[in-house]
Amino acid sequence: MSKLLAVGTVAFDAIETPFGKTDKILGGSGTFVGLAASQFGVKTGVVSVVGGDFPQSYLDMMNAKGINTEGIEVIKEGKTFFWSGKYHNDMNSRDTLITELNVLENFTPVVPEDFKDAGIVMLGNLHPMVQASVLDQMSERPKLVVLDTMNFWMDIALADLHTVLKRVDVITINDEEARQLSGEYSLVNAAKKIHTMGPKYVVIKKGEHGALLFNDGKMFSAPALPLAEVFDPTGAGDTFAGGFCGYLAKTGDVSFENMKNAIIYGSNLASFCVEKFGTERMQELTEDEVKKRLQAFKELTQFDIDLKS
Ligand code: AMP
Repeated sequence: MSKLLAVGTVAFDAIETPFGKTDKILGGSGTFVGLAASQFGVKTGVVSVVGGDFPQSYLDMMNAKGINTEGIEVIKEGKTFFWSGKYHNDMNSRDTLITELNVLENFTPVVPEDFKDAGIVMLGNLHPMVQASVLDQMSERPKLVVLDTMNFWMDIALADLHTVLKRVDVITINDEEARQLSGEYSLVNAAKKIHTMGPKYVVIKKGEHGALLFNDGKMFSAPALPLAEVFDPTGAGDTFAGGFCGYLAKTGDVSFENMKNAIIYGSNLASFCVEKFGTERMQELTEDEVKKRLQAFKELTQFDIDLKS
């Protein structure tokens, strides 16, 4: 078992979907990654920053899930990062309505002493320089560095993103962002181009169409579990990444073969995340529910063709 260190936003989100609208609720890439990883019982620390307006009860909830929040700085006189988004009817695309960086504007992450030797580091969606600063603080090169990002950072900090990508083993990115980063429409060609930027492993998330893993000419495709109802997709990508890293940290095996399972675990957890608004479903999720759905995943993808006849 390896320790897992995750950096990302801990945020307030206001979300609008065809099913309803929320006021400011708990969100953030670091929050979703932490909640997903907490399913694996691995020692997980989250590094982030919040303002004085952030309720202590949210931090207490994370601690109760076994997430170490020592690395979440509280700036009493500051305001927490706020993001607002609106989903279209197909739930696959969304518009960002508001991004208020607030305390993130001048954020200098501090990795807690106990996590400087973490084997797996998840650089969640944040400014690429903040992601790099976390790597600078590690006492040794982690066994695996995973990075997630989004179009927002490609738009405003592309050069910095390229710099940090050189230090990354795995990138998890959605299909549109992979196209934006590579300038290639075909996802196979996009992955090839992204390999040349640094990451040996490229994971492309395709929302309800599953995920692809590329490494050194090898490819693996995992479906997403077809769900009758998707309520709010916010955080699905981060939950996927948290599940992926959590499983790798638990097993301590970062081979391509084991990453296939990690992708299934990530997809499985993401399928729960979208069932309710924000973090609600992930907060109440039980081990038994996770196991049952994994079985459904297995049945969905297993087939046995006799190639001899
Ligand atoms: P996902 O749906 O997986 O892309 O993640 C959505 C979460 O990312 C929300 O909870 C937001 O608070 C957070 N978020 C939105 N924009 C950004 C950004 N520019 N940087 C970091 N986190 C963000």
